[in-house]
Amino acid sequence: MITDITNNPEIRALPEFENHNGVFLLENKDIGFKGYISIHRKNPTVPSFGATRMWAYKNGIEGLRDSLRLSRMMSYKAALAGLDCGGGKGVIIANPTSPNREELLREYAKNVDLLKGKFITGTDVGLCQRDLAIMKEETPYIVGFNDNSVEFTTLGIYNAIQVSLQKVFSTKDVSKRSFAIQGVGNIGAGLIKLLSDSGCRIIYVSDIIPEKIKMIKEKFPDVKIVDPKEIHKLEVDVFCPCALGGVINEKTIQDLRCKIVAGGANNQLEKESLGTVLFEKHILYAPDYIANAGGLISVFDEYSNKIYNKDTVSAKVMKIKDILNEIFIGSDQNKKATNIIANEIAEKKFNNF
Ligand code: NAD
Repeated sequence: MITDITNNPEIRALPEFENHNGVFLLENKDIGFKGYISIHRKNPTVPSFGATRMWAYKNGIEGLRDSLRLSRMMSYKAALAGLDCGGGKGVIIANPTSPNREELLREYAKNVDLLKGKFITGTDVGLCQRDLAIMKEETPYIVGFNDNSVEFTTLGIYNAIQVSLQKVFSTKDVSKRSFAIQGVGNIGAGLIKLLSDSGCRIIYVSDIIPEKIKMIKEKFPDVKIVDPKEIHKLEVDVFCPCALGGVINEKTIQDLRCKIVAGGANNQLEKESLGTVLFEKHILYAPDYIANAGGLISVFDEYSNKIYNKDTVSAKVMKIKDILNEIFIGSDQNKKATNIIANEIAEKKFNNF
């Protein structure tokens, strides 16, 4: 069952609610299924996009708040990537290892179908490529089949790093620069590969899962392992957050000794005002939702174009460089933090839908 709860006063009072276009409760008590879909902004002629997360949230409200927060961020990401869609996000409140995982995914997808194409979704944390096929059997509004979108996300981040290096060091050459990569999952590992292939030899890494570190060390013997509590404190050219959100907070920001922050994690700044602190500390920040938009660009292309061409998608992802350049120029001219300039441009776009 799907219930529109957008106008519920308790929902509207949540700090993460920002005049969202639609908030939906999905529930089937018989099978223990619960989830939410939040649609932040909706272009009347284009569906809203956002991947689906399956996570063992402490409670339903935590999941709802995450979907509100992440759907908002997706609107900013789409706007800056030049896509005409608004942002959405789906969450399934369940442990990804639930024994009835497939049943939950099917139920979720049936609910997505009831939104009749208002919301297009794919995989986020807790879901994998295999889950797409299951969901697709219940609804056509599933994307992510063409290619591994992680590859495009990583390519975008690599481009964001290059344009940031160009601004700070007047060269985009990564080979003489040092990097601290927090989190060596899909994105962190992909980034290490791209950097290593480009001749970079000074890469520090951290992860909270020892097996992941072991795997990375086997693949890339030159990387230097760092305690997860220390990685953000290193004196490196680029700090790359590739783990979870909120890594730059009131406390950690005091420890930063890098010249650039550019990575893949969503919501890296615990609050927007920390972007201004980075600006004042002369640390260049590549706004996360610009740097990591490659995956969204790829799935939006899959939805919009019937013919898939990897080179065309790659070329679109490389445009992240131009967008970031524009933001850096705007930041210099207006003496404002890069995230503030980016937010202003995005808001102008999606508020005109
Ligand atoms: P992942 O789960 O594969 O990897 C995340 C890694 O971070 C894991 O290995 C985890 O153990 C590690 N980690 C967690 N907390 C840590 C900490 N405190 N210190 C060090 N390591 C820690 O996820 P991913 O797909 O690589 O995504 C990474 C980030 O990028 C997430 O924030 C995600 O939302 C964001 N992102 C991913 C994509 C994508 O295409 N996968 C797209 C956009 C944004």
